[in-house]
Amino acid sequence: MSGNPGKIITITGPMFSGKTSRLIELMERHILAGRNVTLFKPEIDSRYSENEVVTHKGMKLPAIIAPTDERFGEFLDAHAKNSGILGFDEAQFWKPSARLPQRLEDLANSGRIVYVAALNRDHFGNPFRITADILAISDEIYVLSAVCSKCGNDAIFTQRIINGVPAFGEIIRIGGKDLYEPRCRNCFVWPSTQMRIGDI
Ligand SMILES: [Zn+2]
Repeated sequence: MSGNPGKIITITGPMFSGKTSRLIELMERHILAGRNVTLFKPEIDSRYSENEVVTHKGMKLPAIIAPTDERFGEFLDAHAKNSGILGFDEAQFWKPSARLPQRLEDLANSGRIVYVAALNRDHFGNPFRITADILAISDEIYVLSAVCSKCGNDAIFTQRIINGVPAFGEIIRIGGKDLYEPRCRNCFVWPSTQMRIGDI
């Protein structure tokens, strides 16, 4: 292999910690340098579309909605060919069958610079397994915090709130400020019974 080695740079933290903004900011620098840049977003509600993200500096960043299952490998091969700089937003949504961590490593091994934004924990407080796997193979990691909605300290947890109180249920449920809020370690409410780290 020749040329510069690729690398994997991962941005993690709770919801509302600015992961996507940081991802785009890091990728935008490569657009300014004239590099080909592609951002992938997960297909989380069975839509398929292509669009663009306009960055803070007014750059256009193509954003491609990617399948998150076993179809992902072929899709990635078709769409990543011409970009030396690749981004993956909301990486926690990729399913094990997509083998995303392995794909990221393949891309880095082929000299690509790969940026990944991934939610750290689910609303039970448990790590997302795929995020943990990606962090383990990353060259660089940014850990971001949000601001606790209760006390204003740095927040590293994402609490699901329904009717004003912490609620627990299915792991994946798409929502924004209507359903989730950031909490610090003191203010995060753990479920009374749950599968904890090490049980999964
Ligand atoms: Zn707090």
